[in-house]
Amino acid sequence: MGTEPMRVLVTGGSGLVGKAIEHVVKQEGGCLEGEQWTFLCSKEANLVDLQQTRAVFEKYRPTHVIHLAAKVGGLYLHMKENLHFLRDNLRINDNVLQTSHERGVTKVVSCLSSCIFPDKTTYPIDESMIHNGPPHDSNFGYSHAKRMIDIQNRGYFEQHGRRYTAVIPTNVYGPYDNFNFENGHVLSALMHKTYAAKKEGTPLQVWGSGTPRRQFIYSLDVARLFLWVLREYDEIDPIILSVGEEEELPIKDAVEMIADALDFKGQIVFDTSKSDGQMKKTASNAKLQRYLPDFTFTPLSEGIKKTCDWFVNNYDIART
Ligand code: NDP
Repeated sequence: MGTEPMRVLVTGGSGLVGKAIEHVVKQEGGCLEGEQWTFLCSKEANLVDLQQTRAVFEKYRPTHVIHLAAKVGGLYLHMKENLHFLRDNLRINDNVLQTSHERGVTKVVSCLSSCIFPDKTTYPIDESMIHNGPPHDSNFGYSHAKRMIDIQNRGYFEQHGRRYTAVIPTNVYGPYDNFNFENGHVLSALMHKTYAAKKEGTPLQVWGSGTPRRQFIYSLDVARLFLWVLREYDEIDPIILSVGEEEELPIKDAVEMIADALDFKGQIVFDTSKSDGQMKKTASNAKLQRYLPDFTFTPLSEGIKKTCDWFVNNYDIART
């Protein structure tokens, strides 16, 4: 008797990463014969609520879960509502993991984030350093809730033999991101600002000096790696999904790529009265390299061009 085809439930299926996974599954042949993939949004089940979580698991009876759903927000919202981010995310994660366990889900792949790393640290940061000291103050609620996923995964394995694991992507960008000026991720907010500055013939105002360095990963690359983790990666310990350390680049280089992609020829002004955030958060992708030495990442300029094109063509439906 062969094994039963997977029934995969993707929580947070309507977000940036969820939409990319849906694309890879439906358009790039990521779905194998007989598999059933379901992409959830918060309207179908509010996962903060245990009854709704149980009901949606009862409805789809998943064998595998990709857990992306999270209460996420911009820097300022996090600083105002750390407790709220902590409690909602603790609940969402506990509801999803415990319900998965109760229903015999074989594998869960959850999503941590590079902002959970310790604030005071040496670089590069790797998977073994997650719990070495408190995360940055600004989003301690969200970060501690995310860290607890790793602790729970360890517990479900030790006590119940469950193979629940997690990935840690660095800064993800791509179609379906949040392009809001204030709450969006840095690249998407900058794409929207550049688009608006071009339309209005005004200078492009970039918050901060442009010197902080970041590693950016295209959402479709994250999605392809998620499928590999779901099917092949057998560890409980998390794995960082990132381009290499040498590809960490100053935000002002990315701004130039965005200006090129949108054909913006106006003036670019760096507003140094605005906060820069952390100057760098260099993450090591050595573990991923060991497993997948031949994986090719989408070059940043190409991913930016594709995302800008998507934004321009889908302005009406984009989250702005
Ligand atoms: P998005 O903000 O684009 O999407 C969030 C998703 O979570 C949406 O599908 C949303 O549903 C769902 N959601 C939020 N609250 C609830 C709830 N109470 N019940 C059910 N569903 C809910 O997130 P991303 O795609 O950017 O992120 C996905 C995961 O990756 C998250 O766990 C995030 O922490 C993590 N991550 C993201 C990074 C990034 O750079 N984007 C970097 C590292 C980690 P709805 O659309 O209905 O609101």
